[in-house]
Amino acid sequence: MHPASLTVQRVREGLAARRFSAVELAAEALRFAEAENPKTNAYLHFCPERALEAARQVDQRLARGEDPGALGGVPFALKDVILTKGVRTTAGSRLLAHFIPPYDATAVTLLEQAGAVILGKTNCDEFAMGSSNENSAFGPVRNPVALDRVAGGSSGGSAAAVAQGTAVAALGTDTGGSVRQPASFCGVVGVTPTYGRASRYGLIAFASSLDHVGLLARNVKDAAVTLQVLAGRDEMDSTTAFAPVPDYAGRLDGDVRGVRVGLPKEYFSGLPGETGDLMQRGIRALGRLGCQVSEISLPVTDYAVACYYIICTAEASSNLARYDGVHYTTRSKDPENLIDLYRSTRGEGFGAECKRRIMLGTYVLSAGYYDAYYLKAQKVRALIARDISRAFEEVDVIIAPVSPFPAFRLGEKIDDPLEMYLSDIYTITASLAGIPCMSVPCGRTPAGLPVGMQILARHFDEAGMLKLAHAFERAGGADA
Ligand code: GLN
Repeated sequence: MHPASLTVQRVREGLAARRFSAVELAAEALRFAEAENPKTNAYLHFCPERALEAARQVDQRLARGEDPGALGGVPFALKDVILTKGVRTTAGSRLLAHFIPPYDATAVTLLEQAGAVILGKTNCDEFAMGSSNENSAFGPVRNPVALDRVAGGSSGGSAAAVAQGTAVAALGTDTGGSVRQPASFCGVVGVTPTYGRASRYGLIAFASSLDHVGLLARNVKDAAVTLQVLAGRDEMDSTTAFAPVPDYAGRLDGDVRGVRVGLPKEYFSGLPGETGDLMQRGIRALGRLGCQVSEISLPVTDYAVACYYIICTAEASSNLARYDGVHYTTRSKDPENLIDLYRSTRGEGFGAECKRRIMLGTYVLSAGYYDAYYLKAQKVRALIARDISRAFEEVDVIIAPVSPFPAFRLGEKIDDPLEMYLSDIYTITASLAGIPCMSVPCGRTPAGLPVGMQILARHFDEAGMLKLAHAFERAGGADA
């Protein structure tokens, strides 16, 4: 058993056949992850006691002849914006460098009830703001496929851990692409469910109307099994839906002939070289699987980046107001008075990107500018949602690139925040509309860099989305 070669299914089989115990697997996975981590900086810290305790419980269930759970014994990693009781949770920020949460996120409770073994917490852009993981206060994550390149962001550590083999699957969060884009850059599967499909309780908030819990896995089946565990109503998050949860893994097989696939012309017209070539090959593969491919239009695309960056900064400026040096955070030393305590704690604690967004968000919400920016952006968001509903009258799924380019070099874009924002063009429409979306590996560029294909589906149609991704994966992606 080598941790890097495991999938959820293989862990299940290995435990059932008594080839290894959950405790043996957890100990080996921890050893391997700790040894490999200096290469990528994917994990910020490990929680061996918690992992071994979870593994012991799985072994006890097995010894009693019980089902170990859908994720029994599976080594997991969690993005460090997801609260873990008693285990440090930093959100990639200096401000929370010593924060120990008093409770678990619902997603964490659900994973552990299903037998998952949480190895540790992964690196991310500070408060999940970024597209390259270079905004972490604890150093960037290097892409395991090409160590001089970024792993993507903001869930870069989770994607890198799964790609590197130091976790079988991982949780991330996706506000505007932070699960799909790093999944694409690292060559793994990344799934973001419908807004309301899975609980956000216990995620450190960035932009609450856009934040989703998402997951990263080595294949579509593992993603489906994990989503099954996370999906459903949670009393602690009033935005979760009562809609019944279908059997995702059970509905993966079967053919996808006749599925109507739409290609937004606004996305493909300017798509550069290597990514464009791979996408075209991927689309031909979908055609060979029997999908009916047609062009569609999402006319409001041009305004999506501006709309997203107004809404997300507005919400961030409000959500981040709580880090004041009194609650949660590291406190600035020797303040002169209360106002100085707030000011210097925030000044010393937040990194440049958070400060930029707090200022932008405060500006667009301020009297006199609210109507011109924030309110206008809300109207544009409604138009984007209308574009999407109209498209789904014609097609069953939408295929899109994830990013205009594959993983770029560390430092290449960090001095140009606007260029970094613009690179989110293909992911934020789904976020603003709240529909399920995912990245499935499409193929590799001649230099060997992974490129993902994005699948967008109707609200609550995760099953249809995963089924198409599964067929595409089995056919060999763009190389079919
Ligand atoms: N790259 C986007 C941003 O910087 C998305 C981040 C996210 O999804 N958390 O806001």
